[in-house]
Amino acid sequence: FKRLEFDDSAKDELSEMGRTFNRMIELLESNFEKQERFASNASHELKTPLTVIESYANLLKRKGLERPDLFAESVEAIHSEAVRMREMTEQLLLLARSRSGWNANPEALDLEQLAIGEADAFRKAYRRDVHVEAESPAVVLCDRSLLRQLLFLFLDNARKYSEEPIAITVGADGESAWIRIADRGVGIPKHELPKVFDRFYRVDQARTRRNGGFGLGLSLAKEIAEAIGASVELDSLEGVGTTATIRLPASR
Ligand code: ADP
Repeated sequence: FKRLEFDDSAKDELSEMGRTFNRMIELLESNFEKQERFASNASHELKTPLTVIESYANLLKRKGLERPDLFAESVEAIHSEAVRMREMTEQLLLLARSRSGWNANPEALDLEQLAIGEADAFRKAYRRDVHVEAESPAVVLCDRSLLRQLLFLFLDNARKYSEEPIAITVGADGESAWIRIADRGVGIPKHELPKVFDRFYRVDQARTRRNGGFGLGLSLAKEIAEAIGASVELDSLEGVGTTATIRLPASR
């Protein structure tokens, strides 16, 4: 895009409009760049499992009948990569939908009850211990399903990046209510903390690839938080653990 040229030191209205116009062009360009990067990252991430699926399918086609030992391995690999692709497209769809806005239906929610429900489901699905503690009664006015998704995303990270029990603490003061999700896992190096909310950003590519992350969870968390008027924050110490805090306006 072409920028307007004018005397930048001038204070008149026309120069002011010129500056505004140039600023708009800059914003437009950076949005284009972001979209391009997003599309190229997404295609790259989808290509990896597709390549695995394609090579195993080829192997089955050529040798499947004569090599039964290859059969189980190939089917297993194709299945797990297909699951990865499905999970990723689900997250991408959610992110795309967030642009047009989620339908939030606020209701009064007791955070301790909500956390207990989510912890139970989590224990059953992943056989990981999750403790819930209420520091004080905490009630918020919020969309139940979006808040549950948000809590799930942090719980899921705590599960992926730690081996030990996970602790959820809820509480409220006059102004705000919070849910804290704490793990004693690998932690995040300090200089990486500002970047982990970026789409497709992963601290350690090799480690996360094994654990099945795409680097989309936290960017989705940020979008959901925005949609329900919550803030999200991560505190972490490498080798010690990570604490995520979801903060909402308290309801009285
Ligand atoms: P992913 O799907 O890869 O987990 P996220 O967007 O949820 O993507 O997180 C981005 C990166 O931040 C992760 O790849 C991981 O390196 C780091 N991270 C997030 N949560 C935690 C945590 N609880 N403990 C350690 N590292 C974490």
